[in-house]
Amino acid sequence: MVNDVAKVPGESSNDSILAYVALGCNLGDRYDNLKSAVDALQALTTITQVQASSVYETSPMGPADQPDYLNAVVSLQTRLAPLELLDALQLIEQQHGRTRDGERWGPRTLDLDLLLYAECVIESPRLTVPHPGIADRSFVLFPLAELDSELVIPDKGPVAALKAQCQQFGIRRLNSLL
Ligand code: ATP
Ligand code: CA
Ligand code: CA
Ligand code: CA
Repeated sequence: MVNDVAKVPGESSNDSILAYVALGCNLGDRYDNLKSAVDALQALTTITQVQASSVYETSPMGPADQPDYLNAVVSLQTRLAPLELLDALQLIEQQHGRTRDGERWGPRTLDLDLLLYAECVIESPRLTVPHPGIADRSFVLFPLAELDSELVIPDKGPVAALKAQCQQFGIRRLNSLL
């Protein structure tokens, strides 16, 4: 059971925002973890219209001695402010057994990264949007382009062009839907 994040008066806009979130997992039942994360997002009353890309299997970034990842991207509509949305993502990570005591880019049961929040550019201690890795990670660009091939990423350019430039190996699309 996932509870909604409490709204802080005055911090939330009344307009619904289109946001994109990257999902990654390489521990436990990887597919179940991703599916459960999508369900948890959809279950929040503050998030609607969750749409998921295909699932991709990808070689690990960082330490190579860890299992391959499953990755996907979802789009969603929300009235949560950016940091409220990050809080919601981190709560769902924790509810899926995420620990943060390991090495950088080490194995994890669930990683939820806020890729895009409308066309906003955000630089704050806890949150950088667009996500710093968005422009050069094939495991983000492939599923993101699936959801909107015309998407233009603030300060980075069209997703299609970025996808064409990124590393094309170490990633394969699975015939699975979340
Ligand atoms: P990477 O961010 O390179 O994909 P990671 O996902 O392994 O690496 P984490 O340990 O999950 O990194 O997150 C570290 C911190 O990054 C978080 O505590 C969070 O405050 C911060 N952060 C900054 N921008 C974002 C964002 N757009 N989405 C998620 N977390 C972010
Ligand atoms: Ca909902
Ligand atoms: Ca990440
Ligand atoms: Ca993360």
